Amino acid sequence: EYKGKSKERIMEIRRKNCNPMTMKITYYKKPVFLHQGYMQWLWDFDGNRYLDLFAGVATVSVGHCHPKVAAALQRQLNKLWHTTNIYVNPTLHEYSEKLASHLPDPLKVVYLTNSGSEANDLAMLMARLHTGNFDLLTLRGSYHGGTQQTMGLTSNSSYKYPIATSSGCTQTMCPDVFRGPWGGSHCRDSPVQTTRQCGCAQGHCMANDQYIGQLKETFATSVPSRIAGFFGEPIQGMGGAVQYPKNYLKEAYQLVRERGGVCIADEVQTGFGRTGSHFWGFQGHDVLPDMVTMAKGIGDGFPMGAVVTTPEIAASFAKAFHFNTFGGGPLACAVASSVLDTIKEDGTQQNSHNVGTYLMTELAKLRDTYEIIGDVRGKGLQIGVEMASRDPLSPEAMSEIFEDIKDMGVLIGKGGVYGQAFRIQPPMCITKEDVKFFLAVFKKAIQRYMDKELTVQRSGSMPRIKPGKH
Ligand code: PMP
Repeated sequence: EYKGKSKERIMEIRRKNCNPMTMKITYYKKPVFLHQGYMQWLWDFDGNRYLDLFAGVATVSVGHCHPKVAAALQRQLNKLWHTTNIYVNPTLHEYSEKLASHLPDPLKVVYLTNSGSEANDLAMLMARLHTGNFDLLTLRGSYHGGTQQTMGLTSNSSYKYPIATSSGCTQTMCPDVFRGPWGGSHCRDSPVQTTRQCGCAQGHCMANDQYIGQLKETFATSVPSRIAGFFGEPIQGMGGAVQYPKNYLKEAYQLVRERGGVCIADEVQTGFGRTGSHFWGFQGHDVLPDMVTMAKGIGDGFPMGAVVTTPEIAASFAKAFHFNTFGGGPLACAVASSVLDTIKEDGTQQNSHNVGTYLMTELAKLRDTYEIIGDVRGKGLQIGVEMASRDPLSPEAMSEIFEDIKDMGVLIGKGGVYGQAFRIQPPMCITKEDVKFFLAVFKKAIQRYMDKELTVQRSGSMPRIKPGKH
């Protein structure tokens, strides 16, 4: 019970008074009724504790209700909440300076928004105004937002409506080294590699040439000769933590710039130390974007987003007033400023690297044992586990394993264009002990699913397990 309301009553309200699609995206058949969170833990109304390995889609960065962040919010709560865009208040300025200090030159001009969609919407507008061109390119499987403009960038039919979204958005092949036709066994920047050979010659990735070839074909066939820009997530999030061959973004950026376009790194999921080796995902690709968009982890769960760009692009954008009532409000800035301090003080980025590398290495061992695990990928604490051998695992099978993992006390995410990948993007304060607990749970859920399949399939095909291992 919550304030005298039973779970049934809450679900009734959800059915009647909330967006009907929320019923579909309630993550579990038996939904989790959340009550409280602390660091990497969540509790439901029945007092059950969950290890949170999804962080509300990589939204909680330093920890649920992190004491330092909560204290910063509390301090500001008693001072000023008011919009500060038409007056001057230090919070926005202090935060903008601090955020800019985390980005390389010339990325120094900060625009604060309330969400990732809003940040990408703004970046679309800036790219078009700055270049005088209209066409934007994204990778298939990407997610860049749900507003009518950004829906044109997003490449997943589940999020598309039968209406005109922003025209001039074209998707090119995602250079997915696991699912893509050319593989890429030692190509991606991850502690674990795929099992898909691509015939790499020393230091030269053959698969990358092919994927870049596809991009060139898109330029030759689908967009005008001059374009406005290219949006790319350093590691796809909703797409299932898909990673590209090492030089893909570098070569793509060059081709985009040759055609007059600017390059935008969507760091909504990968920013703020999540990829471990670097503070920003793009740094792992050895590129320098013209714009960086961010949200989610920026506020550790507090609604906020940002676009950081160059003074040159900011000047092109200064032709009309850009006003945002709540963007960069004092509460959001106090929280986000404390998040940056906490990442530094808690060693969050280093922890992301250490714990993430350990987790991925262990998951790769499971991949080598169980045939239903097709791929393990990612960096730091942006991890994907693709459940497939030749074909993606069915949505029903995915749900069964997913629900079982939850019932054993761990929350993970799902993603991928076919819903075929599990996603692990926890608050970045998780420990090696937490990982060991998750691995035991994951192994048990997979084993249970396979045992069940085995009894169902007695007269059918062989169980999907590699011979000799069990
Ligand atoms: N970009 C990426 C990479 C995202 O994952 C998301 C949200 N899943 C967005 C943009 C949009 O962010 P928001 O939901 O805050 O609008």
